[in-house]
Amino acid sequence: MLTLAAGLCAASSVAAQTKPEETEVWKPTAPIVAPAAGEGGAPSDAIVLFDGHDLAQWVSTQDKSPAAWTVRNGVLTVDKTKGNIETKQNFRDYQLHLEWRIPADIAGSGQARGNSGVFLASTGPRDQGYEVQILDSYENATYVNGQAGSVYKQHPPLANASRKPGEWQSYDIVWRAPVFGADGALKSPAVVTVIHNGLLVQDHAVLAGETVYIGKPVYKAHGPAPIKLQAHGDPSAPISFRNIWVRELAPRP
Ligand code: MG
Repeated sequence: MLTLAAGLCAASSVAAQTKPEETEVWKPTAPIVAPAAGEGGAPSDAIVLFDGHDLAQWVSTQDKSPAAWTVRNGVLTVDKTKGNIETKQNFRDYQLHLEWRIPADIAGSGQARGNSGVFLASTGPRDQGYEVQILDSYENATYVNGQAGSVYKQHPPLANASRKPGEWQSYDIVWRAPVFGADGALKSPAVVTVIHNGLLVQDHAVLAGETVYIGKPVYKAHGPAPIKLQAHGDPSAPISFRNIWVRELAPRP
């Protein structure tokens, strides 16, 4: 009887709508955004953070002086003596694209082999914030929640999409910043989706707090924040970046 009743109900709701037009939505229309015109470009509504020319969009994390990593032949290379760099501009929710390359002659092992990282919101003068790890994870074992594509010590990547040292790799990241109330209490946690070289490696991963080297992650209230790149202290050769852009996203409803 139940099945019969459900069947009748479904039939009557189908009968109530008879034209395909009744389920078409025409407005509001999606904003027109021109995609990147080929390799190395950015979409028309992106904020270009590095296009191969200079570090005008970046400062030293430590003292906010002009960023002093090396720019040569359209490529940005970490200078480990200069510390982390971060964007001048603060962001909340966004889509980020960046490309990075481990040196072909990389040496070392584990975490001491091409270590860098992108902090999706920088919340302090050193490594504070939320790090998606950058590391040579091509045939280089380490703890899985610290390999390339991990949310450092919180979420291992869903795949190891690493290319060989010397080859360019890409991250495409959707970052939803944590939301805090006026009293500083967490209202909604940070959420991140990461695509590494075209493969999904973080699928709407929910963060338990800032990523930390030792101990448990904890949230501390903050507002819009810079995007930060890591100058890791390991002795291996420094990695490089190119083609970095960001598109700001409207906050979640
Ligand atoms: Mg790192």
